[in-house]
Amino acid sequence: MVLLLFGPPGSGKGTQARFITSWLTIPAISTGEMLRSEIAAQTKLGRLAEEVMAGGGLVSDELVNQMLVQRLAQPDCAGGFLLDGYPRTVSQAEFLDSLLARQGFPPAKVVHLAVQRDGLIARMSARRECPVCGQIYNLIHQPPKQKGLCDRDSTVLIRRKDDHASIIRQRLKAFDEITNPVVDYYRGPQLHEIDGNRSSPEIFEDIKELLQQALAMVRSRTKRSATP
Ligand code: ADP
Repeated sequence: MVLLLFGPPGSGKGTQARFITSWLTIPAISTGEMLRSEIAAQTKLGRLAEEVMAGGGLVSDELVNQMLVQRLAQPDCAGGFLLDGYPRTVSQAEFLDSLLARQGFPPAKVVHLAVQRDGLIARMSARRECPVCGQIYNLIHQPPKQKGLCDRDSTVLIRRKDDHASIIRQRLKAFDEITNPVVDYYRGPQLHEIDGNRSSPEIFEDIKELLQQALAMVRSRTKRSATP
């Protein structure tokens, strides 16, 4: 199964991606995380992306598409994968659709986490993450047990460079202007809207139910086509 997780910055995509991948055992690919690793490693791509990301803008389609093609060619993606933060433009969506078709994947399932904008900036300013295991915390809703330290490995939690109010506003603007049309691009049976204004476990229950139905349909179709 190929799954696309959509939602504005701060909608909880990263947290849901973790729940889903450990449940379905498919890899979660976050283009944002991949770009942050490229920056940390100071690769050519990282250097090109750094300034754009620091300002809350979008990295060029060409760079992100190339990075994605390389990642999807890895063997762990052969049985399906989840994309978080991609496609973010209509041109990326068109690119992905033709790539999936060429590689024999069925059309992607699209889950859109719809959230109210009130409180989003405060929620994101309170976000912290573990630079080692990637666990995400929120100082208001989901604080670590020990102040400033990861529950799993006691690493000092960090705040993402672009999680500051003025940059968050810029990222929300980029989402509204450029990424919202991608939701419209997928509108139809492929697209599932989920109310993201609830706790992470509640949201996950809905996503699970939805995906269980989709998986049951795929299984019954495969069984039917296998019976002589
Ligand atoms: P969020 O969804 O919370 O903004 P991400 O980690 O998905 O966080 O993305 C962080 C930044 O990485 C974005 O603001 C953008 O600059 C860049 N980025 C991530 N994915 C893409 C993409 N598919 N196309 C262009 N830029 C991207």
